[in-house]
Amino acid sequence: MKAIEKSKPGKGLSLMEVEETSLQSPHDVKIKILKVSICGTDVHIYEWNDWAKDRIKQFPQIDGHEFVGRVIEVGNEVKSVKPGDLVVSDSHIPCGYCHQCRTGNMHVCQNLKILGVDRDGVFSEYAVLPDTVLIKIDESIPLKYASVMEPLGNAIFTTTAADLRGKVVLIAGAGPIGAMAIEIAKLSGAAFIIVSEPSDYRINMAKSLGADLVINPKEKSVVEEVLKITSGLGADVFLEMSGNENALNDGIKSLKSTGVASILGVYPESKIKFEMNTAVFKNLTIHTITGRKMFETWYMAINWLKYHKLDLSKVVTHEFDFENFEEAFELMASGKSGKIVLNVTK
Ligand code: NAD
Ligand code: ZN
Repeated sequence: MKAIEKSKPGKGLSLMEVEETSLQSPHDVKIKILKVSICGTDVHIYEWNDWAKDRIKQFPQIDGHEFVGRVIEVGNEVKSVKPGDLVVSDSHIPCGYCHQCRTGNMHVCQNLKILGVDRDGVFSEYAVLPDTVLIKIDESIPLKYASVMEPLGNAIFTTTAADLRGKVVLIAGAGPIGAMAIEIAKLSGAAFIIVSEPSDYRINMAKSLGADLVINPKEKSVVEEVLKITSGLGADVFLEMSGNENALNDGIKSLKSTGVASILGVYPESKIKFEMNTAVFKNLTIHTITGRKMFETWYMAINWLKYHKLDLSKVVTHEFDFENFEEAFELMASGKSGKIVLNVTK
């Protein structure tokens, strides 16, 4: 089968002919991959930045963790899906037995394995995954939107951590996940959505998605603009989706006292400057977010797509043939795109 893999340390990924994967356990499911989408993590692995150098230990390893596919074979113990089912999956594979798994927090399992990071991923014609992470989805959900449900889950988990009804929301970063968050914030009843974003392409994307005010932090002070529009009070909720230290601190300073921050961003360095005293004296509530709540956020994602309440047409901006992955990765790295989908099966 064809697969996009990291063959060795260094820049780039390779399209290779590799042995087709097969069921290893009675709980395994073999899937024909239809579409995959590229995440920032894949770009890090492609570019081979410090995070990737530190984190990726196995070579060769198939990349990728966002997909939609069709079940073609199931192990003897699999009861939740059957051949022919359309499926998506969480990229976090939990053990099912540890303290976190048994207390409803599978997404932070103590023995977590992440697809395309700790084990082979899904940028291949076929993949074998455990039934625990698979989710059968409605046939009415367009395949290209189904393939981005994993990052959509990040957007939903972060955005729904706070009550947005009637609130002023500040979103830092209108990358693919920030863009999805604009849609979720609207669906969740936000009264006014402010976005801060420095890239022209993504400023336009945020505006087209219905952000009420878009601030370019290179041109204007985010804090001053937020205070102006809220008559000096500050925003109720801040969603950090940029992974930028200044954006994080501007967001904390832009919140009203007793406001809520929900932080998804991952920063180039673990130790960063943080407006801690501002947060304390404002009596803020701060949520940090990793992954998706399994499986509440998936349930919301499925329903919002199935009942046509969520329109991802402006978030998924490009589709490429699987073979043209390099062009797709370069475009993704340039920041002049929303979500990019690769068609594995034509
Ligand atoms: P992305 O890098 O494509 O988007 C980030 C956006 O932030 C870009 O459009 C960039 O122009 C913008 N930005 C940069 N500096 C800014 C500033 N000073 N103010 C405002 N915006 C600024 O990332 P993405 O795929 O949309 O993901 C969003 C963030 O969430 C990233 O940091 C990513 O690493 C992180 N992430 C975390 C998890 C998790 O489980 N915690 C999962 C997925 C992604
Ligand atoms: Zn576990």
